Amino acid sequence: MRGLVNKIIPFSSVDGPGNRTVIFMQGCNFNCLYCHNPETINVCNSCGICVSKCPYNALMLKFGNVIWDKNICKMCDLCLQICKNNSSPKATYMSVDEVLKEINKVKSFISGITVSGGECTLQSEFLVDLFKKVKSMGLTVFIDTNASIPLYEKKELVDLIDMAMVDIKAYDFKEHKMLTGKGNDVVIENVKYLAKINKLYEIRTVIVPGVLNNYYNVDMISKLLVSLNSNIRYKIIKYRPIGVRKDIIDSCVPSEDMMEELLNLAVKNGCENVILV
Ligand code: SF4
Ligand code: SF4
Repeated sequence: MRGLVNKIIPFSSVDGPGNRTVIFMQGCNFNCLYCHNPETINVCNSCGICVSKCPYNALMLKFGNVIWDKNICKMCDLCLQICKNNSSPKATYMSVDEVLKEINKVKSFISGITVSGGECTLQSEFLVDLFKKVKSMGLTVFIDTNASIPLYEKKELVDLIDMAMVDIKAYDFKEHKMLTGKGNDVVIENVKYLAKINKLYEIRTVIVPGVLNNYYNVDMISKLLVSLNSNIRYKIIKYRPIGVRKDIIDSCVPSEDMMEELLNLAVKNGCENVILV
C-alpha cells in the first residue's frame, strides 16, 4: 500500500492541537478558486514541461515518468509555478513504513499527526494502514478534510481518527459549487455526523470579499454549529492572495472591521469558541 504524498512538514502548531507533523496528500476533488496550494490538486501527468526548466537539474524524464531527485532539489518551487496542471513533480509515492520513518524522526517532540492535502480522504485505504500504526505509537491522529467523501460510510477510518477539521466553504449549494466545483450536501452531512460522534474539532470558513456571500455564510454556518454543539471551534479565516492562482479570482484581504463583525455575528448566534485567523 502506497500513498501519494505532496510533502511532510515535521512540525506545525496551526494544524490541530499541540505540535504536530503534517502530511499533505496529493490530489483533490475540489478546485477552489482561492486554493493557496493548487499544486496539490492533480496528479502529475509527466508531460515533462517542468523538467528542462529546473535550474538545478533535479528533474528528469525516465521511461515517460518524471523523476525528482530530492537530494539535488533546492526547493525553489519554479517547477510548481511552471506547471499548468495544478500538480507537482515532487509528489512521491510512499509506503506506510516510509512515512512512519519520517514521523519517528520527530516523535519525541510531537503530540500527533495531521493528514491534510489535497484531500486526504481520497486515499483512505492508505490512511487506515498509516493510522493503525501511528495510534500504536501513542500519537493522536487528526484529518484536515473538505468532507466531500461520505465519512459516515468510512467507519474503519473514522474509528481510527481522534478528530477532524472541516471546511464549510459556503452554505449555499450553488455558491459552494461555483467556488469549489462541487456541491456541499455531503459536507453538511459529514459535519453533522462528526459532531454527533464527538469527532469534530473545528469548522473553518474563508472570508472572500466580492466573491462569496460572507455574512450569509457565517450566519448560517454558525447557526448550524450551535445546533450541533456550541463549543466546537469556529475558525473564520481571512482570504489571503499568497499562493493563489492569478486571474481566477478577484478579491482582497477582508478588513479587520469586517472580520470583527463576522466574529460578533457568530457569537451572537451562540458560538462559544470563535477565532479569527
Ligand atoms: S523546486 Fe522544482 S525547480 Fe526548484 S530545484 Fe526543486 S525540482 Fe527544481
Ligand atoms: S509537474 Fe506539471 S509540468 Fe511537471 S511534468 Fe508534471 S504535469 Fe508536467
